[in-house]
Amino acid sequence: MILSVPLAVAVIGLFIGSFLNVCIHRIPRGESIVFPSSSCPGCGARIRPWDNVPILSYLILWGKCRSCKGKISIRYPLVEALSALLALAMLYRFGLNASFAVYYVWTCALLVITFIDLDHQIIPDSLSIGGIVAGLALVWWMPVSYLDALIGLGLGAGLLIAVIYGYFFLTGKHGMGGGDVKLLGMIGVFTGWQGVLFTIFTGSLVGSLVGIPWALLQRKNMQTAIPFGPFLALGAFIYVLFGEPIIAWYFGILA
Ligand SMILES: [Zn+2]
Repeated sequence: MILSVPLAVAVIGLFIGSFLNVCIHRIPRGESIVFPSSSCPGCGARIRPWDNVPILSYLILWGKCRSCKGKISIRYPLVEALSALLALAMLYRFGLNASFAVYYVWTCALLVITFIDLDHQIIPDSLSIGGIVAGLALVWWMPVSYLDALIGLGLGAGLLIAVIYGYFFLTGKHGMGGGDVKLLGMIGVFTGWQGVLFTIFTGSLVGSLVGIPWALLQRKNMQTAIPFGPFLALGAFIYVLFGEPIIAWYFGILA
């Protein structure tokens, strides 16, 4: 009985993850996320419902399309699993209430943004600006005040604009894009200003730890090496899940 709520949440998370795969594929191509139903990217054959069960179908079909036997990316079951884990993480954080629903949908948007940014180096406005509008409309169900959300929005966008102009002033090059500005503004609505500072710090730290070795290995220019959006998304997720205890611990050490 105690386990039944997390189990149900995880299963729903898997099916929502299946929908998120559709979003990741179609939103940057400007296609509808509702119609038509899913088809194999290789041969175009329609995927029947019993071949579209999260994770299980991938395992039963050995990661191959039933029609053309083309390889199905491991990313499909990965996104489904991540979606279920995000749902469980938000359940653990908020309990079964409206905040859980709001923040689970928000982490789903961050997940979709992460993979679209990795694939296309863009962050669609429908997700960033759409998230800002949705967040401001749902503040009542969030653990931030309306003022906090607005300050978070202004600080998030303003801070990155300052970083972009500062970087351009110092190096004459463009480091980040406008998509990151709108994303950090959107994150600020859901986390308040403390979350913005935590996100930019954590995102930059993890981004450097991963990005610098990766760029050296690839022998690529740092500017084009790796998109920043996924690291902002990760930093924001860590803040919502563990931000308060981490900040309390940090200031406890200082004091
Ligand atoms: Zn196929």
